[in-house]
Amino acid sequence: MGKKASHPHAMETIAAFITLPRISKLLSALVRIPSPSGEEMAALRFIESYLGQQGLSARRQQVSRNRYNILVHGGNSSQPSVLLNTHVDTVPSYTAANSVARRAGNTIYGRGSCDAKGSVAAMLLAFVAIHRSSDGGQVPVDLCFTVGEENSGDGSQRFVQDCRKYVWAIVGEPTDLRIVNCHAGYVEIVLAASSVRSHAFVPAGEQAIIAVADLMLEIKRASRRKGKKPVHTFVHWIEGGDRSPFWSVGSSCKASLVVNTYSKAEIASIIRLARACCATVERKYPGVEIEVQIDGSDEGLETPRNSPVVDYLSSSLRAIGRDRRIAVLPSWTDGARLCAAGIPTVVFGPGSLKDAHAVQEKVDIKDVRDASLAIAGAILNWHGQAGRTKRRRK
Ligand SMILES: [Zn+2]
Repeated sequence: MGKKASHPHAMETIAAFITLPRISKLLSALVRIPSPSGEEMAALRFIESYLGQQGLSARRQQVSRNRYNILVHGGNSSQPSVLLNTHVDTVPSYTAANSVARRAGNTIYGRGSCDAKGSVAAMLLAFVAIHRSSDGGQVPVDLCFTVGEENSGDGSQRFVQDCRKYVWAIVGEPTDLRIVNCHAGYVEIVLAASSVRSHAFVPAGEQAIIAVADLMLEIKRASRRKGKKPVHTFVHWIEGGDRSPFWSVGSSCKASLVVNTYSKAEIASIIRLARACCATVERKYPGVEIEVQIDGSDEGLETPRNSPVVDYLSSSLRAIGRDRRIAVLPSWTDGARLCAAGIPTVVFGPGSLKDAHAVQEKVDIKDVRDASLAIAGAILNWHGQAGRTKRRRK
């Protein structure tokens, strides 16, 4: 892989387009439009009109009523192509202040600024800049903005149903400009317990709610993994008991516990562990019966460290004076779906995951610019390399 950008001239034109004022204006406009999962329409319309102003036509891929993915096609469809993807939906604002875009110095605050509208801006500008550069129309890169990443992932689910077999893909998420070639999946375990209804203080047996609480703690304590990837257990929801004025030992309790995992084998081992913990806890609580159900799982993302996409991004980061850092993400992204579809995928973008979903979300526009330049550079490096290989074969 070339250490320098393969298209120095094209890169200059691109860098002249991806400026801080342009990023600030585009990103502030995106953050000002609320787009919590399920209500992405206004943000989608804004992106379509922006693309239209740049002379690009977008295609809608319907996901559900009033919700669709935006697809933009670059280059000639007979050529092998690469993909840029990120999501337009965000988590809800939590507070009124957070739904307002605010700029202080080079930092833009507001819901979605880093997760993932910083990436939306970076990818939009990289795509437009490539398109405007001399042979831009020939560069085979597709752009896909998905909906629903923050809850059901229905946008990416729809996208992979009939997407092309891309040579590689970059998924935009806040990674602090680190190249993520591995990220967690999860297993969601539902614990359903029932106990005998009886007098609260003269109980016929133990209480389902207490047994479920104990079982969740037991699973949390027992879930361990070697190495640097920490285990996270998170209670998605819990229900049980009632508000009746008559005190009695409640009849049931249900809770959902989500554990992050990094492979199919880990999913299986967490399920085995939950069942073993369940048997132990059931013995401790006579009169309580607990059932372990699996509500869903995902293998996450794993792309070899020596994949070409890692090299192309590494070279383009070096070319703009940024360190190449490879990282593991403890969280799920749409990248898992592309990876499962057999596309070598990395996750990469401006902003920090610890600011995502936080009350005060933020991103530095210099990082958005560098992400955009690195993405554009990676595409040109790949396209230049592919062009040279083809010429050599002739
Ligand atoms: Zn995200």
